[in-house]
Amino acid sequence: MIVVIGSGLAGYSLVREFRKLDKTTPVTLITADDGASYSKPMLSTGFAKSKTADQLVMANAGKMAEQLAIDIRVNTRVTAIDTPNRCVQIGSESLHYDRLVLALGAEVRHVPVAGSGADAVQTVNDLQDYRALRAGLQAGQTIAILGAGLIGCEFANDFILGGLTVHVIAPSETVLPLLVPPCVGQAVARGLNDAGVQLHLGQTANAVERVGERYALTLSTGERLSVDCVISAIGLQPRVAMARVAGLAVNQGIVVDAHCQTSVEGVYALGDCAEVAGQNLQYVLPLMACAKALARTLAGQPEAVHYPVMPVVVKTPVCPVVVAPPEGEGHWVFESEGSPLDVVARFLDSEGRLRGFALSGVSVSHKQTFTQQLQTVRDGISQP
Ligand SMILES: Cc1cc2nc3c(=O)[nH]c(=O)nc-3n(C[C@H](O)[C@H](O)[C@H](O)COP(=O)(O)OP(=O)(O)OC[C@H]3O[C@@H](n4cnc5c(N)ncnc54)[C@H](O)[C@@H]3O)c2cc1C
Repeated sequence: MIVVIGSGLAGYSLVREFRKLDKTTPVTLITADDGASYSKPMLSTGFAKSKTADQLVMANAGKMAEQLAIDIRVNTRVTAIDTPNRCVQIGSESLHYDRLVLALGAEVRHVPVAGSGADAVQTVNDLQDYRALRAGLQAGQTIAILGAGLIGCEFANDFILGGLTVHVIAPSETVLPLLVPPCVGQAVARGLNDAGVQLHLGQTANAVERVGERYALTLSTGERLSVDCVISAIGLQPRVAMARVAGLAVNQGIVVDAHCQTSVEGVYALGDCAEVAGQNLQYVLPLMACAKALARTLAGQPEAVHYPVMPVVVKTPVCPVVVAPPEGEGHWVFESEGSPLDVVARFLDSEGRLRGFALSGVSVSHKQTFTQQLQTVRDGISQP
């Protein structure tokens, strides 16, 4: 019996890949949520398209169980893992596994703000969160987004297209500070600004106070904003607590080797909770690569995960971005292609080879060419 914990893209992709290879081994998937299959990246593009949470669901748990020929236990939280006895605890119930897969995702970092409205700051990391957000939000209202990373920028773009007044507050000097070089961040900031997003960069929100049905934000500069809703998008951290208590090796994420196996034999991890060969990549393409390789391993054909070049697409249509973060030592070289939004940034090593890139605006049309070029360089370097 294989037990999988988690019904996000990682859990379901793994089972889908496994069933292509093995139609009979019993699989039980346990999930703390309702087990609906949906694409999480759609959460930050759904408002402008007037999508309800139900419209984002591709299949409910019943349908998934039937399609994949597995048992699914919904609204069921695994409380502990007992690796010596090969079982998971669901409260007082013990469930035996032969092999266990952790697809636990990542959890939101809580924003340190003071004030009577601090507990009303929302986060959007799953369908339930999206449902709650949509229920209280209408075009014409004003929203404050804390954080200017990928998720903060995508929500800002979505909400402005959906007819909200949007404020973004972040301590960085530009947007996407951890993902792209500053000049690409400036291009995106300009695109958002031109679309009407009010950026409050180099600032933090110190307090959120309830004022009737609305909220008053006090920024670090003393400026005050009056808004209908506040969301925090300051980042996600791998969900590792249960693995740590169970004695599995945990670093940034649950540590796994190239076969997605944790420090304990027969226990595997993938997706946002996992640190695969030293990297915790919280994106869809890496988890798909892991799902394919792990499915083969579980089906008796051990396969190591191989990550190709996997550019990250930032869904900010006012200034789209594609980025392949730099590998190794080097420096950025920039080129503007006409408009200030259209930037080509190359990350070159000391021998002038491409080791990363960031493209914005119309320059994202070069994605394929740059991806191929980067893959060729990487393949050349990894040759003996
Ligand atoms: C708004 C947003 C937009 C994004 N856009 C993009 C994008 O454009 N491109 C991209 O590549 N990536 C994007 N990402 C990231 C991508 O969506 C994630 O990397 C991916 O969905 C993670 O899937 P997962 O299955 O690892 O985790 P999750 O989807 O978080 O699933 C975790 C599962 O584990 C379950 N669980 C946790 N603990 C327990 C427990 N103790 N017992 C039982 N069940 C448990 C949960 O209920 C859930 O079913 C975005 C993320 C967000 C939040």
